[in-house]
Amino acid sequence: MLKFISFGSGSSGNCYYLYTETDGLIIDIGVGIRTLKKHFRDYGLSLSSIHYVLITHDHADHIKSVGSISHEYHLPIYATKNVHDGIDRNYCVARKLPAQMKRYIVPGEPMQLGCFHVTPFSVPHDATENVGYQVEVEGVTFCIITDAGCVTDEMKDYITRADYLVIEANHDVEMLQNGPYAPHLKVRIQSPTGHLSNHDCGVAIAENMKEGLKHVWLCHLSEENNHPELARKTVESVLRGYGIIVGKDVELEVLKRKTPTGVYELGSAQGKTAGYGTRTRLPGLGRPCTTDVLIPLE
Ligand SMILES: [Zn+2]
Ligand SMILES: [Zn+2]
Repeated sequence: MLKFISFGSGSSGNCYYLYTETDGLIIDIGVGIRTLKKHFRDYGLSLSSIHYVLITHDHADHIKSVGSISHEYHLPIYATKNVHDGIDRNYCVARKLPAQMKRYIVPGEPMQLGCFHVTPFSVPHDATENVGYQVEVEGVTFCIITDAGCVTDEMKDYITRADYLVIEANHDVEMLQNGPYAPHLKVRIQSPTGHLSNHDCGVAIAENMKEGLKHVWLCHLSEENNHPELARKTVESVLRGYGIIVGKDVELEVLKRKTPTGVYELGSAQGKTAGYGTRTRLPGLGRPCTTDVLIPLE
């Protein structure tokens, strides 16, 4: 059974974990390694059960601990050539990756990593490069799209294939426009290589989801320009406009910025039978991930 935990989502640090009985895969490693160790322990897990680390892009909130985890656990790091070059240049990554730990991925080219069939795909954003990931295991298709300036036709196809979807709902447009950010930042965030708004996120889901989509998690919410309840309500109301009812047709949740989720079991059951997307365990964790890094871009 494929399981999923989010250990942090947003500018303070992103880290998502997919695992089975035999294999473990991390997507983005922007959470401090000591914090992550503690979280894993709290879940009865160990960082030594991670086999692969996949990176979306080279902004600090996604790569901060990439060097430390690779060194400490001898883990290969999967990223595009451009993103690896970006990681090498990024001053937020204190420990650089040795050449033998770099694995180069190419958008659109699938790869088999243990039991995970992984396909990276391009996502427009103002990093050196950015990818989303489709991960298929035992007939279950999981998809993650974060830090997306806009939604391309290719991305829409991946949304359509997903049984489980993590997708960015970064900001509320009105909050951003009336908020404290400098004008150039507001322009950057709303540009086609910036971040996805709650409304555009809702439209992307509604217009592309298949009927069997089971669970959507909204990720990478802005602290200043969004609110979890607002993000959820906006997406929910866009979906309703398309005749899609949250709680009946699809489950919808907001990922917390600094608090880990419970463990979700991503079952392959067709339709609304028991066991899919079930949050089996809520360890009651309330400890935040580290926020002790200056983040120039997120
Ligand atoms: Zn980010
Ligand atoms: Zn970013």
